[in-house]
Amino acid sequence: MACATTLSRETIQEHPRDEGEKTLDYFAGVDIGGTKIAVGIGDASGSIIVESQLVTAEIAEGGQALDAITDQINQLCQKIGITRQQLRAIGVGSPGPLDGGKLLKTANLPEQWDGLDIEGGLELRSGVLTVVENDATAAAMGEWLYGAGKGLRHMVYVTVSTGIGAGMVVNGMRDAGIQGNAGEFGHLVMKTDGPLCRCGKHGCLETLSSGTAIARMATERVADSPFLQAASALDSASVFAGAYANDPTCQSILESAAFYLGLGLSYLVNLYNPQMIVLGGGVMAHHHEWIAAIRENTKRFSMDAMYPAVQIVPAQLGTASGVQGALAAAVMGQTRA
Ligand SMILES: [Zn+2]
Repeated sequence: MACATTLSRETIQEHPRDEGEKTLDYFAGVDIGGTKIAVGIGDASGSIIVESQLVTAEIAEGGQALDAITDQINQLCQKIGITRQQLRAIGVGSPGPLDGGKLLKTANLPEQWDGLDIEGGLELRSGVLTVVENDATAAAMGEWLYGAGKGLRHMVYVTVSTGIGAGMVVNGMRDAGIQGNAGEFGHLVMKTDGPLCRCGKHGCLETLSSGTAIARMATERVADSPFLQAASALDSASVFAGAYANDPTCQSILESAAFYLGLGLSYLVNLYNPQMIVLGGGVMAHHHEWIAAIRENTKRFSMDAMYPAVQIVPAQLGTASGVQGALAAAVMGQTRA
């Protein structure tokens, strides 16, 4: 089979579980990323029982990816001794842009995957109802079902990582737009003469406040900063370390990034009037201290009447958030058929 070489590199991790908590209904969560594809089997409570990973770059063609994911789900089911009939739905979190359950052209995945019908293809191969969500929407559903936003009716999730994205819960339902792409928050143009973005526009929020943007500013301003000159890498981690060590250049880079991120969040406050904005993603996960500066700017630019209603908090789901988000998408989508 074409995916055999890929599967030889898999890493399977089994999570301990209480035998008394066995359930008849299981769900699969598939988190497709530019580096890896994480596959997990869990239950409706969000517990991941078993998971494994595939290396994205080793799968050249989209159909092979679907074969490999299906094979992986089968192996994981066998490993925990459940049948395919006990799998109620497969949830997938995928980089956008999407057109429903299909991939459009995406910069994060191999070019040969363009146009891939993830939803139809996985459903055909597995015989299990499949639900595909934009990865930020899936992560929002994870935080909403299992994390910081549990039980809220109005919540926005924002990821700040190499890029920036958002997912919305409005009136107790996910709000993903007609194609599933709502929440392209990172591509709101905040500065029309700003840096060129990978989407082709200038001055998107992602070019001003993401981990990639912070690293770019470190490179641009290294001559002003003895701390950055001595740093082992010009990345966002070095900028945060410099700011904690009171390096004025690093502090100024983060002030600028927090300014635009807070400004962007104020648009979400005014548009959605959410109870909570949950901040996740790699940059936020390591720097909860930064949230105070972001809140300050959000308060500054939001309508005075609306800011007091919103809490801005860090995400609660950790490194497994991608698979848990995809699992949440499966749990929420199981009634779609
Ligand atoms: Zn952009």
